[in-house]
Amino acid sequence: MKILVINAGSSSIKYQLLNMDTEEVLSMGLVERIGIEGSRIVHRVNGEKHIIEKEIQDHEVGLKYVLSLFTDSKYGVLKSLEEIDAVGHRVVHGGEKFASSVRINDDVLNTMEMLSFLAPLHNPANIMGIKAATELLPNVPHIGVFDTAFHQSMPEKSYLYAIPYEYYEKYKVRRYGFHGTSHRYVAQRTAEILGKDVKDLKIISCHIGNGASIAAIDGGKSVDTSMGFTPLEGLAMGTRSGDIDPAIVDFLIKEEGLTSKEVITILNKKSGMLGLTKKYSDMRDIEDNAIAGDKVCRTAFDIYEYKIAKYIGSYAASMNGVDAIVFTAGVGENSPIMREEIAENYLGYLGININKEKNNVRGKETIVSTEDSKIKLMVVPTNEELMIARDTKEIVEKNLDELKL
Ligand code: ADP
Repeated sequence: MKILVINAGSSSIKYQLLNMDTEEVLSMGLVERIGIEGSRIVHRVNGEKHIIEKEIQDHEVGLKYVLSLFTDSKYGVLKSLEEIDAVGHRVVHGGEKFASSVRINDDVLNTMEMLSFLAPLHNPANIMGIKAATELLPNVPHIGVFDTAFHQSMPEKSYLYAIPYEYYEKYKVRRYGFHGTSHRYVAQRTAEILGKDVKDLKIISCHIGNGASIAAIDGGKSVDTSMGFTPLEGLAMGTRSGDIDPAIVDFLIKEEGLTSKEVITILNKKSGMLGLTKKYSDMRDIEDNAIAGDKVCRTAFDIYEYKIAKYIGSYAASMNGVDAIVFTAGVGENSPIMREEIAENYLGYLGININKEKNNVRGKETIVSTEDSKIKLMVVPTNEELMIARDTKEIVEKNLDELKL
């Protein structure tokens, strides 16, 4: 079964074509600057990268061109587009409506549109991608896989804010959490690597990238996560503040003469590592400068690690125990020093010992704790696209079975 995975942003489409009989990636790429001057496609096939400059006015034009590349004489991996059996779409917000992946029909699409008020920057872009793909591939099933779905298992005590309950009743103001597809993949892989049933494990999954969130996963179910109503809550990130006292918003509105929207933009785009250092949002720059003795970068790096450690501690308490703490995403997978400092400075009381040699690893599945460590410390590179393709395959196969009955 061949499955196309699409992750549509407002001006970009990330795509992967997978052969799900072997879970092999046949081709992948990125359409960028859609509707903007300088649009192009970065297309990868057979280990080669091709950059194709092309005017791309909208998502449908971009996707149509990507599909033509799949059967192209030079870049092609398919004889015909009929070989594509299904399409899996990443959708950011599923609200309280979607606790798992679903086959997209008109009703589902309407519900996604209704949920756009919760994710005005993301859901409309995801929907554009779905509309373009269903237009171009109308005869195959399209499946929606939601970033929030995995966290729908959170109990009320995790997802309710202690604010007047009517705001939850009226507007569904609550914690939703994001990166769910990544946390779900990490939990499954962790159980496989440890040779255990995920139902018997308490896992803290640390998705530490430019955007970052931590999830407490008890028995395979998310019971808490650090992002909330929006991805702004939780850890200090590349450009996001993470947790702050909400009274700061009103204070800045008054003192700086800003609108609330401007303050929220500052908290999303100009805060976090960028705000603290005034220069860098990329953790490689901050890490390099911190090691070289730059005090500002050292402080930013300390804050970054400290927030991660605080969430790990609180989730060990939430679950009344933890078996494995797992690092994933850009920084989590690729920064041995961050993992080492967190383990050594903050996690010793849990009986965690890091094996420095094993920890000297980037982007590779590894148990980085010592044999006698009470809790496993691990690196598990995430793979959201594969998870989307697996969900898509499962739903398509189930539907086929139902049709046969
Ligand atoms: P997102 O998907 O949220 O944009 P990623 O998961 O791709 O983010 O992570 C990007 C982050 O990972 C950047 O801050 C980048 O600097 C960091 N990163 C990548 N490689 C390394 C490395 N070798 N050491 C430290 N940080 C790294």
